[in-house]
Amino acid sequence: MFYPKLLKIKKELNFAEDLIDEFDKWLAFLPDSENNVITVGKVSTKFNIDYTIAEGLLDKLCNEGILEERFIILCPKCERPIRSATKQSLLDVANDVKYCYKCNTEIKITMEDIIFSYKLVEKPNITETELKKYTSKVLGIDDSLSKAERLNKLLKEGKKDLNDFFTFPLKHKYQK
Ligand SMILES: [Zn+2]
Repeated sequence: MFYPKLLKIKKELNFAEDLIDEFDKWLAFLPDSENNVITVGKVSTKFNIDYTIAEGLLDKLCNEGILEERFIILCPKCERPIRSATKQSLLDVANDVKYCYKCNTEIKITMEDIIFSYKLVEKPNITETELKKYTSKVLGIDDSLSKAERLNKLLKEGKKDLNDFFTFPLKHKYQK
């Protein structure tokens, strides 16, 4: 498992083996753009579990130090996440946001534009070699090839969305 602490949580919440496995993988390979916007709604939809169960799961991950609480400020016009804040910095950050660079609009943030979320703070338990092996298996690439060769092959075959590929090596620093 990438997050061995999940085994304890699985027992406490009486979760199915495959659900925890899927969740473990999802967490480990979350791209940078998504790993600070983990919401109860997203997890509940993604894993097809009850909202309150997803809430309990994320709460436990927080207690275990895998996640940290965050507040996400959404643009009132385009509804995209524009800033993230801790409980302590929320007021300052909310007052500071006056412009959305995603939709180029002047905005004023109210309480309704703030959602509660979690940020992934613990790195997955995986070595560089294991990661290489795993991504090779997932993407179906020969792991004897160099990084550049693998990228080339991937692009040629158009197997995966580019985003999917680039998020793998950039996502975490896996050195131990
Ligand atoms: Zn916007």
